[in-house]
Amino acid sequence: MTGQSQPYDLICIGGGSGGIATARRAAAYGAKCAVVESSRLGGTCVNVGCVPKKVMWQAAHATEVMARASDYGFSGVAPRLDWAALVASREAYIERLNGIYDRNLGKSGVDVIQGYARFVDPHTIEVEGVRYQAKRFVIATGGVPGRPGIPGGDLGIDSDGFFALQDQPQKVAVVGAGYIAVELAGVLQQLGSDVQLVVRRERPLREFDEAIQTAYVESIAAHGPTLVNHFTPVGLEADWGGYTLHAEDGRRLEQLDQVIWAIGRLPNTDELGLEAAGVDLSEQGTVPVDDWQTTNQPHIFALGDVTDTPYPLTPVAIAAGRRLADRLWGGQPERRLDYRDIPTVVFTHPPIGTVGLTEAQARAEHGDQAVKVYQTRFTAMDYALSAPEAKQPSVMKLVCLGEKEQVIGIHLFGVASDEMLQGFAVALKMGATKQDFDDTVAIHPTSAEELVTMT
Ligand SMILES: Cc1cc2nc3c(=O)[nH]c(=O)nc-3n(C[C@H](O)[C@H](O)[C@H](O)COP(=O)(O)OP(=O)(O)OC[C@H]3O[C@@H](n4cnc5c(N)ncnc54)[C@H](O)[C@@H]3O)c2cc1C
Repeated sequence: MTGQSQPYDLICIGGGSGGIATARRAAAYGAKCAVVESSRLGGTCVNVGCVPKKVMWQAAHATEVMARASDYGFSGVAPRLDWAALVASREAYIERLNGIYDRNLGKSGVDVIQGYARFVDPHTIEVEGVRYQAKRFVIATGGVPGRPGIPGGDLGIDSDGFFALQDQPQKVAVVGAGYIAVELAGVLQQLGSDVQLVVRRERPLREFDEAIQTAYVESIAAHGPTLVNHFTPVGLEADWGGYTLHAEDGRRLEQLDQVIWAIGRLPNTDELGLEAAGVDLSEQGTVPVDDWQTTNQPHIFALGDVTDTPYPLTPVAIAAGRRLADRLWGGQPERRLDYRDIPTVVFTHPPIGTVGLTEAQARAEHGDQAVKVYQTRFTAMDYALSAPEAKQPSVMKLVCLGEKEQVIGIHLFGVASDEMLQGFAVALKMGATKQDFDDTVAIHPTSAEELVTMT
């Protein structure tokens, strides 16, 4: 049975960041579009990703500010967190966002089809027993948290489980070395849990610039969470005393209230019927695409976390989708996403911001002679009145190329790095040089001024 008389111009499978953005932009050009979503509109970002994570980060950040209040003469600030109340407010906010997404799709004239989509042939999908046809499809089904295949692995929770917690765990192991692991570990630590960040190698965040890795590791050595390195989990057990996480080398982390796996994400392609559509998959289960987001089927596209994108981030999925719609329906034949120089922030305490090449990447790509690095370390004025042990360092690095010293990498660790990076990323994208930075008058007193006063 077919659910429509005319085929859609576009069906986006997945109502997350990428699918919604693509459909709305295509509809703005007059395309007849639908989005299929099996769960809540907004996808990972809105429901179990960026949005709830940032709310938790804000709560954690509030504790930092309150802790410093006494430096400024305030007394009687003794905060006590009601975790359940925080979670309830956060979820109410997300529900409002789900509604806003629904209304915006309606206003854009995009049909929302609720249910799980499977291809039955290259031009037809089936959702809840109803068939829909389209001239073009976008696969934007995102991913899910991965779990280790070790005995007892299911006793732990993942990032989805973290957002479902109704009580604050007191003693937690967060396993993983990527940005989600350090963010969840940081939030819990800051909110008062006793947190161990468990990594298999020496350090977390290994794809970041050396200076950032070092600054982060130094910072957590002083303020927590506790780094447990060279720890390869081989089993998780539960008994009356809590969970015990076992390492390959015999070490054990004991009496844990919760173990959170943040060990990577898996693409949502298992049940999509891609064989029926003739769409190839990579060995990792991602959908391979060319520079134009096109799969091996010329009318089927994929974007966001379901592809092997180097940046599994919301704005990247959105940008890829909008550019695809601009190209296919907006008369802009050369429009596509340039995956270089994508800025990204890690919401640690304090945050990390990075765009462009790391120093190591720049040296490998351009040779030592062509690369010049400027680096600074200072204490942000936020801590001017704080006790020495409460202070967090800020570290900034500029990676510059050639005689002109074009800035090709910016790496920040410290207070306000999250808000600072976006504007500097524009400068980098435009090809700014160190001289351009030097010629820009500083804003005083800020941390950002250090970026235009480095020698
Ligand atoms: C804990 C966490 C924190 C994050 N923090 C940030 C951050 O701070 N900043 C940032 O930029 N990014 C962040 N991300 C990443 C961001 O959430 C993703 O990059 C983004 O959501 C990817 O968008 P997408 O459209 O590819 O997929 P998704 O947003 O995952 O959307 C895919 C949708 O497809 C639906 N779906 C799947 N299969 C089907 C099917 N067969 N039929 C119908 N529907 C289907 C799913 O239910 C889902 O709603 C975070 C992610 C996590 C997990």
